[in-house]
Amino acid sequence: MTETAQKPAIDIRGVSRIYGSGPYQVAALKGVFVTIKQNEFFTLLGPSGCGKTTLLRLIAGFDFPTSGEILLNGEDIAPLPPFKRPVNTVFQSYALFPHMTVAQNIGFGLEMLGKPKSEVKSRVDEMLALVHMEAMRDRAVSQISGGQQQRVALARALAPKPKVLLLDEPLSALDYKLRKEMQIELKRVQAETGITFIFVTHDQEEALTMSDRIAVMSSGEIRQVGSPWDIYDRPTERFVADFIGETNFLAAEVVSVSGDRARVRLSSGAKIPATFPDGTTPSGKVTVVIRPEHAQVTSPSSTALSGVIHDIVYLGTDTHFHIRLQDGTSFTVRQQNSRSGPCGFSKNDPVSIALSDDVAQILRD
Ligand code: ATP
Repeated sequence: MTETAQKPAIDIRGVSRIYGSGPYQVAALKGVFVTIKQNEFFTLLGPSGCGKTTLLRLIAGFDFPTSGEILLNGEDIAPLPPFKRPVNTVFQSYALFPHMTVAQNIGFGLEMLGKPKSEVKSRVDEMLALVHMEAMRDRAVSQISGGQQQRVALARALAPKPKVLLLDEPLSALDYKLRKEMQIELKRVQAETGITFIFVTHDQEEALTMSDRIAVMSSGEIRQVGSPWDIYDRPTERFVADFIGETNFLAAEVVSVSGDRARVRLSSGAKIPATFPDGTTPSGKVTVVIRPEHAQVTSPSSTALSGVIHDIVYLGTDTHFHIRLQDGTSFTVRQQNSRSGPCGFSKNDPVSIALSDDVAQILRD
């Protein structure tokens, strides 16, 4: 392994960005620390206004931190203007030149860098092949579809061989089907080029599908960093659990802790095992989360939870059962419709809820 390969691609160290002053002051980023590995598909995920674009702009050099450092391959990039950083950006709006052809758009940046014509041509050919656009090289970009324009924007950004590619909600202008296709395409291109991708989205499904790791952001802070599995199945706090998919929150009390597992008592009196965030030792009253697909509705029996169905929503592939538990808490169960025909339960039926193994996670807060 080379020395560069051992260093993080991007190391964000205590970065803050404060806009304005006095009563108009906005803390877009509040002392963010995050390390992005070489060759990683890393996603910044969070609601509108949480600071995702600000962080991307600081890495690109379009803006500067109020405090903190950004290292690229171990070097502080503060002194480098945007065009000297080995970083390129794909914007939501594509920002292609409409009067130029596909090939001219892809080669533009290389020509600006003064690369010899033969090198520009071979690199453009390589990029056209990478994004499967060889047949359209001489088309004007105004004559190709939105998905094809997105491929050209990607090829253009990759042509100068950046070490890091920043992607700011690049798929949000595409319709659902095309977005799904482009998600697979982006993953493939990232794997084939080995370039570190930092992808910004507010779409949790997109983040889960594409990323090696995800940083969930809220109000200028990173709340949790982890693999899609960590983020979805082991959320550490309420914001993350709530933002990523649907979930059930239950009040519980810790009975015992042994190694990396706790036993908690639910309000029904049932005791179930629960995991908890690394570096914490849960005690006393806690909140546990259980995903709706990790529970099953059964006829009344001695399972962990029981209640009454107050709504049933049929969604084709799944059925959602909204259940009022004995203590008044709402609990949703999502069951796959593995057989055709009615689900066998009706509104107001008393039911029990069976939990799959190892599905409860204790939150930090
Ligand atoms: P979106 O998904 O809507 O693009 P975001 O997560 O990318 O949102 P940012 O654009 O990074 O959010 O903005 C973070 C916060 O900083 C917001 O409250 C925003 O209003 C504020 N902000 C961003 N740029 C400026 C600026 N130039 N001047 C003042 N406030 C700004």
